[in-house]
Amino acid sequence: MGMSSEDKGLQEQWLRVSNTLKTEIGETAFENWVRPIKAFDVRNSEVRLAVPSRFMRDWVVANYIDRLKDLWTRENNVVNSVDVIIQPSLKNQPHVSREYNNIDKKNDLDAKVVVKSDQKEKATPPHISDSQISAPLDGRFKFDQFVVGKPNEFAYAAARRVAQASSVFFNPLFLYGGVGLGKTHLMNAIAWEILERDPARTVMYLSAEKFMYRFVRALREKNTVDFKEQFRSVDVLMIDDVQFIGGRDATQEEFFHTFNALVDQGRQIILSADKSPSDLEGVEERLKSRLNCGLVADIHATTYELRLAILETKAEKMKLEVPRNVVEFLAHRITSNVRELEGALNRVAAHTQLVGRDLTLETTQDILHDLLRSNDRKVTIEEIQKSVAEHFNIRISDMHSARRARSVARPRQVAMYLSKQLTSRSLPEIGRKFGGRDHTTVMHAVKKVDELCDHDNSFAEDVDLLKRMLEG
Ligand code: ADP
Ligand code: MG
Repeated sequence: MGMSSEDKGLQEQWLRVSNTLKTEIGETAFENWVRPIKAFDVRNSEVRLAVPSRFMRDWVVANYIDRLKDLWTRENNVVNSVDVIIQPSLKNQPHVSREYNNIDKKNDLDAKVVVKSDQKEKATPPHISDSQISAPLDGRFKFDQFVVGKPNEFAYAAARRVAQASSVFFNPLFLYGGVGLGKTHLMNAIAWEILERDPARTVMYLSAEKFMYRFVRALREKNTVDFKEQFRSVDVLMIDDVQFIGGRDATQEEFFHTFNALVDQGRQIILSADKSPSDLEGVEERLKSRLNCGLVADIHATTYELRLAILETKAEKMKLEVPRNVVEFLAHRITSNVRELEGALNRVAAHTQLVGRDLTLETTQDILHDLLRSNDRKVTIEEIQKSVAEHFNIRISDMHSARRARSVARPRQVAMYLSKQLTSRSLPEIGRKFGGRDHTTVMHAVKKVDELCDHDNSFAEDVDLLKRMLEG
């Protein structure tokens, strides 16, 4: 069968559109979701794309349809809409990935569940019927209690979007960040908001550990069918701290299937972890790539401004008058995470109320002396410069000077390297402390010292010695 010129044009347009999309969504998502799509035909001003299953169609429509339309309109301004149709015969085409076929088989197995959930839609409002599995939500963790700043604004916006959406946009939403930065808070807030908007929806929130525990118990009691049913009948499944699933193969396998089954049915999944999907240890590649297919949002370490804002908000809520210098002091000194910051404020509040002391900078330092000491042990860039200068026998001022002789340039690089290693300062901040150098200079220094350490044993020893001295 020959190709009409119209069809040839269509295929060429699809090639360009899909290539652009590939650069935007990445290789994995492309292989999973876009590669199996066929450009079917153009009718009037609508392009029709064909996919092998309903599941695929739902996914493509939920995730890519707007972008596809935009790209296509740019290719061919006659086109003003893109539709996705189902063509089961595409299943047997060689370009459909194996992984994808597996999902499809699952789809059939889960047909029963789909029917059940459709019936459920209006009849029952049992969102807490799953409460023996779902952890109770924390009443303090709502959106209005969450202070938004640069480090968390993206995660916050994503969480809000998912909470407010009436259809599934990103699946899963994957939140990640270090401890105490608000992941659990955001997940709870999403659950609260979803239930406030529609109490009939079933939301299940639990830790990955609990998920594993339930699974292992179900295995022991030979009751995995019920286990599966419980998870697969929710509208929104949230699993907190999924890094704990790493390495446990059976649980991971079950998680993967539960995950796929829920996605199949258009249910929302929200996950959190302390690392990005790609960095999760002991997690299978296929699961990683599936996790990467939704929206991945990270919460960065707090900034001074965010810590200030959080302290002010919390103090206000506690109806606690905190002098400005105390707030600033705490924001400066308790930098590890929000949980510690909160803890410090609570301690100061409790203490001053119980003992009836005035809340001053002095009492704060007094009350928090142990906490501050542990935050104290951090080395400053100035100390590093001083020790390195002494060690190499150069003047401290040479740390800031423009001199480029190797006898001063090398020690300067070592000091930059150690500043990067031992402090939490950013590259630009470090550059500034070294006579206003550019961050790329610091980056270069870090790389250079790493290289030298690899090739020169005595140099490596010097650096190591300095490091230990500064840390100790
Ligand atoms: P994670 O789950 O990331 O370890 P949590 O969500 O448990 O962290 O947060 C730790 C504590 O800090 C909680 O009490 C939470 O309410 C609080 N917290 C974290 N981030 C914020 C924020 N941006 N605004 C207000 N409180 C926050
Ligand atoms: Mg948490």
